[in-house]
Amino acid sequence: MKAAVVNQACTGVEVVEKDIPEVGAGEALVEVEYCGVCHTDLHVAAGDYGKQPGRILGHEGIGVVKEVAPDVTSLKVGDRVSIAWLFESCGHCEYCNSGRETLCRTVKNAGYTVDGGMAEYCLVTADYAVKVPEGLDPAQASSITCAGVTTYKATKVSGVRAGQWIAMYGAGGLGNLAVQYAAKVFNARVIAIDINDDKLALAKEVGAEVTINAANENAAERIKEITDGGAHAAVVTAVSKDAFNSAIDCVRAGGRVVAVGLPVETMDLSIPRTVLDGIEVVGSLVGTRQDLAEAFDFGARGLVVPVVQTRALDEVGDIFEEMYAGKIQGRMVLDMKKSCGHNH
Ligand SMILES: [Zn+2]
Ligand SMILES: [Zn+2]
Repeated sequence: MKAAVVNQACTGVEVVEKDIPEVGAGEALVEVEYCGVCHTDLHVAAGDYGKQPGRILGHEGIGVVKEVAPDVTSLKVGDRVSIAWLFESCGHCEYCNSGRETLCRTVKNAGYTVDGGMAEYCLVTADYAVKVPEGLDPAQASSITCAGVTTYKATKVSGVRAGQWIAMYGAGGLGNLAVQYAAKVFNARVIAIDINDDKLALAKEVGAEVTINAANENAAERIKEITDGGAHAAVVTAVSKDAFNSAIDCVRAGGRVVAVGLPVETMDLSIPRTVLDGIEVVGSLVGTRQDLAEAFDFGARGLVVPVVQTRALDEVGDIFEEMYAGKIQGRMVLDMKKSCGHNH
């Protein structure tokens, strides 16, 4: 089978031929249909999280089960399932036992610590593969498997309620979905903040009531005016320290700021502001299997529509280059059938 792997020097991606993996206890073999390309894949390929030469990339995989191990009861042949960043957790620690499996200390991650979905076939731990509902386009499901569930969970964590204001810092691939979940699922009033007018225009199209270009004006001041005192919550997907600082400033007393973007920096968190205004700041990482099932359901019902573009597996190197150059709008999704037709 063809697979996109971290090259031997850990400087990027290459497409190689590999054997189809054999199913072990608790596992299922999935014939991959689509796998989205995420910025995390660029970091893994570059060895930023530690060198993984030869590792099959991809944690936004969607495919159909072809074979299950004899002990598997949760999946059957023909099921369409996800291959997600949360590939498997231990299942018995304090986090796994309290609905916080993403914080498990011995979690396995697809496309990083175990082989992922950028291949014609992939193994999954059957109990951790989330079923994709009928009626959800599998290419769109691929985007929900990482970007969608991450922003859905972050908005859930923000605690925003119907009619309340939420500030979405960053209107890129993640932010666009965050706007949709906040507006269409949580019925919140959404303010989108970015420094790119095209991304803001797209945010407005998908449900943002107000957009602010932070390159031209002080976002926090403007938000305080519009909302009569500050947003009830903010979610930061922007990879920028300035965005985090602005988010802290933009919320009203008792407001909550959810951190999702990952600039490797420290934010300036005022202690008086935190204490006297009762601000909460909390991190949010991907989502649990249940979060993903919910995120899929909203997609299947048409409430949230990821913007995706399909490409062939052989184009993965070009896509990485385009992502490094910041040329991409929406999500690039590898279509395994586009590249492998001549093999069958
Ligand atoms: Zn991702
Ligand atoms: Zn655990």
